[in-house]
Amino acid sequence: MVVRYLPKVEAPVQFWYPALIGMKIRIIQGDITKVKADAIVNAANKTLLGGGGVDGAIHRAAGPQLLQECKKIGGCATGQAKITSGYNLPAKYVIHTVGPVWKGGNHNEEKLLASCYWQSLLLARQHKLSSVAFPAISTGAYGFPFEKAASVAINTVKKFGQQYEYPREVIFVLFTERDYEVYKKKLKI
Ligand code: ADP
Repeated sequence: MVVRYLPKVEAPVQFWYPALIGMKIRIIQGDITKVKADAIVNAANKTLLGGGGVDGAIHRAAGPQLLQECKKIGGCATGQAKITSGYNLPAKYVIHTVGPVWKGGNHNEEKLLASCYWQSLLLARQHKLSSVAFPAISTGAYGFPFEKAASVAINTVKKFGQQYEYPREVIFVLFTERDYEVYKKKLKI
């Protein structure tokens, strides 16, 4: 893995429509658990009790108190989002959202994925958070085709940024070089 997130976290590289909306969008490659945003988003499962992939990494880095808080929430439906504290993470909050499992594309997958981004951003806005970092939700174990998921993520965040002032910054955190390049191309950075 090429660890490129540190300089990019410190030096924003891309502004999206700075004259029209307050939101700026940034992409970084690396591990989301290291990102110092107001909130990082977790691609969780419906139980919210931890899993593999990014979910496992977030729970490991946050420490056992995160699981304790998640147990009290009692789960989360697909396309919805819940917020907890970030505990030992550099991020203050974790927004847990449950992406759709890819079942071929005719099971409302795109709408549900868009809802994950939208509901997470609404929570961030309610908490007046300035910066939120997203992983590529549903593109790992849940099998959503990466390019399609990237378009949904970017379009949804862009739409939100055109309507609302908070969060002011969204960071897409891509785990691999290849995923990073897909976002880079789509955002024309
Ligand atoms: P899902 O079940 O929603 O598909 P996964 O965790 O399996 O969730 O994968 C979602 C995305 O997160 C994938 O693109 C995967 O490469 C990426 N990922 C895995 N670990 C990390 C991490 N530590 N930081 C950022 N992204 C990660």
